[in-house]
Amino acid sequence: MTDPVAVAEELAPKLAARADAHDATGDFPAADVADLRGAGLLGLMVPERLGGLGAGFATYTRVAQALARGAGATALVFNMHASVTGALASVPEDLARQLGAGDAFFAQRDRLLAAAAQGALYGVGITERGAGSRLHALRTTYAREGEGYRLRGRKSTCSGAGHLDGYLVAAKAEHAVDDPDGPVSHFLVPAEAIGEVEDTWDVQGMRATASNGFALDCHVSAEALLGGIEGVAGLLAYGLPQWLVASYAAVYAGVARAAVDAGAAHVAERTVAGQEGGLGQVGWVRQRLGRADAQAEAARLTLEEAGRLVDHAPGEPATNAMIYRAKLLSGDAARDAADAVAEACGLAALRRGHPLERLVRDARSGPVMPPSSDLAADVLATARLGLDPVHGTDVRPW
Ligand SMILES: Cc1cc2nc3c(=O)[nH]c(=O)nc-3n(C[C@H](O)[C@H](O)[C@H](O)COP(=O)(O)OP(=O)(O)OC[C@H]3O[C@@H](n4cnc5c(N)ncnc54)[C@H](O)[C@@H]3O)c2cc1C
Repeated sequence: MTDPVAVAEELAPKLAARADAHDATGDFPAADVADLRGAGLLGLMVPERLGGLGAGFATYTRVAQALARGAGATALVFNMHASVTGALASVPEDLARQLGAGDAFFAQRDRLLAAAAQGALYGVGITERGAGSRLHALRTTYAREGEGYRLRGRKSTCSGAGHLDGYLVAAKAEHAVDDPDGPVSHFLVPAEAIGEVEDTWDVQGMRATASNGFALDCHVSAEALLGGIEGVAGLLAYGLPQWLVASYAAVYAGVARAAVDAGAAHVAERTVAGQEGGLGQVGWVRQRLGRADAQAEAARLTLEEAGRLVDHAPGEPATNAMIYRAKLLSGDAARDAADAVAEACGLAALRRGHPLERLVRDARSGPVMPPSSDLAADVLATARLGLDPVHGTDVRPW
């Protein structure tokens, strides 16, 4: 059987070779995605019976880290696709049937997963201006229409928008849009049903993710409702947060490691006037590199433990705490390691074309992506203090 981590490690240098060009133009990394498709990685989370590799969460985190060491933006597009396919593949059938999901849902789920194994690419549209990714505050709505649903609204940020075959869209029940406790559901919307994509993504880092916005006013079939039951988005966010939280952690743990690697490569070959042996002879430069290495490894180990727990004890409080720790530590490690190492390397690392220059910008998104580092820390402390995770503080996480 193919080892997907080895496949990703083999692809990473190819992605790295294109990363600067993609970053400079902000173009969607089509050649990278074609490579992922060719290598079968779009089917990573798809069960083997449907033509995929049948990976678990821990394997996903290793694959995403390996890809991110090549190109963070491509790894982020991959992470969104893996989140959709991974969440779909891991729906516990008994529980879903108990909650009311019927045969039509399972048939549709299998079709979507089989299509991913054949190369279809999916993305996630949750974020809206004003609401961010706080599900309870979304203004995109769904309402029953005939046999299916009508979706209306506008999403501000969706990695890969305009290049996807399907969009996972989070929407709130129209009748309860002003109620913070109103039901929120996920729909898998086919590309043809999405309105015009706004080509507005021009940001500091992770430029090659094409994280554009789009408008929605479309009818979707009843099977587009993920899980086959309304109102599960909030339950998943609080109860099984791995895909919403720790999937990004894998990308930023990889970015943190890439920053250490790029710093070490620069330090090893850089000569300094009057300092025989080069930059590596300067004590504080080594210290910065050493601290960055420790931070990147602490993030990786926490993520590894989160992956192990997700695969063996999903939904347990200890698992969910490890998921939030992994996101917090990875986002911070990427930002801190890239900043510290780049500063130690001097002006060269600030010049366009140097890998660290891009990594510093890419890494800034780590603590911002949901849940932000501040929010992840708050969720951990809320649990530690025994407060209600939804209503127990002044900030409602999702
Ligand atoms: C590279 C990249 C790729 C992305 N890709 C996707 C994607 O594919 N799909 C997608 O859906 N989204 C995507 N996003 C968007 C991402 O999910 C959002 O950046 C995130 O949800 C935060 O939203 P925001 O940046 O608008 O911040 P805001 O929600 O505006 O928050 C800004 C700050 O204010 C705080 N804040 C504001 N209001 C409140 C409040 N009421 N309660 C508590 N705190 C508050 C926040 O904690 C934060 O510190 C991407 C973002 C990046 C950077």
